[in-house]
Amino acid sequence: MSKTTDRPSDSRGGIRFDRVSVAYPGSTDTVALDSLDLTVAPGEVMALLGPSGSGKTTALRAVAGFVRPTAGRVLLGDRDVTDLPPHRRGIGMVVQQYALFPHMRVADNVAFGMRAQKVPKKEIPGRVAEALDLTGMSAYAERYPRELSGGQQQRVAIARALAIRPGVLLLDEPLSALDARLRSDMLAELARLHRELPDVSILYVTHDQIEALTLADRIAVMDRARLQDVGTPQDLYRRPRTEFTASFVGNANLLPVTVGPAARDTVSFGRTELTVPTRGAAAGATATLCVRPHLVGLGDGPNSLTGEVAEVQWRGATHRLHVDVDGHRLKADLRELRRPPAPGERVTVHFTPDDAVLLTAGVSADG
Ligand code: ADP
Ligand code: MG
Repeated sequence: MSKTTDRPSDSRGGIRFDRVSVAYPGSTDTVALDSLDLTVAPGEVMALLGPSGSGKTTALRAVAGFVRPTAGRVLLGDRDVTDLPPHRRGIGMVVQQYALFPHMRVADNVAFGMRAQKVPKKEIPGRVAEALDLTGMSAYAERYPRELSGGQQQRVAIARALAIRPGVLLLDEPLSALDARLRSDMLAELARLHRELPDVSILYVTHDQIEALTLADRIAVMDRARLQDVGTPQDLYRRPRTEFTASFVGNANLLPVTVGPAARDTVSFGRTELTVPTRGAAAGATATLCVRPHLVGLGDGPNSLTGEVAEVQWRGATHRLHVDVDGHRLKADLRELRRPPAPGERVTVHFTPDDAVLLTAGVSADG
């Protein structure tokens, strides 16, 4: 624990948002972040996942010290850093647009943060080499940013963030400027990097569910300045609590249903009775049933629904069928079919009771 306020804070203890709110000056009563309560454990990778404008970057900048909360506190470990300037927080940050200094060689870019932190001069070359090695960029130390590809520039930006040996690494959509192929390679790289630096807590902002599902230990789902849900990727995917989470983390069929009699584990969807785990939901309550498209099968089975094929999309390994059942569109992702049905044909689809999740939270709360 550092005793003097002069020393950088020890950020190895994880991050805690304690009811952090942010309202930007001038933006009349719009709250960019509304009372965020969230803890990132030491060494944990937490993804902040949400649509554009949901407050993700704002949350990140509150941790970095670039915006001041209007209420609440930011803690690193057990230290309140709300009033600490950015360079005293011991944090590394990488943003979407590399933000390298164009007139500086790679090595000088990487050294930049250390100079600001007053790292002793003779330590700097060794730490530059170490950071470039970690990101696979050792061979490029003497180049200028313009002589590098987008992916390489982003590696340098990551090296620069790591050179200060941060306990916390903040990444704000770091892959969104890269093309799809490179993005996938870089995702694997980031996962490897975290295995090599297991003590570093990572807060990873993205609107891309694949990035969040792939990389994160836990995902915090944001919408309209608020935390909607938080859990492991598996939890959120298999047991979402809200419609928003269900549809933002993975694909979802969301069917309006009414809960059947108590203890019967049934719901009615239009005129069809379906068997699903109702987990004590009140009889007669309206709810939403979430069924993942890849868990819908073709043909008769438990929980059969018959409807008309509206569209058939071939997606390489799968066919996606859009089926209209009682005025609701149902998606089914089926392993590539030999003879896919044609639009207009009537088909029956089904799903297993345990593959359906009844959402009772926040169903009609969102106005
Ligand atoms: P995200 O990163 O999820 O896209 P942001 O945190 O950037 O969302 O933005 C959250 C809200 O705050 C948005 O409504 C945005 O318009 C607003 N906002 C962001 N930055 C500023 C700023 N510097 N001044 C005023 N409003 C801002
Ligand atoms: Mg953002």
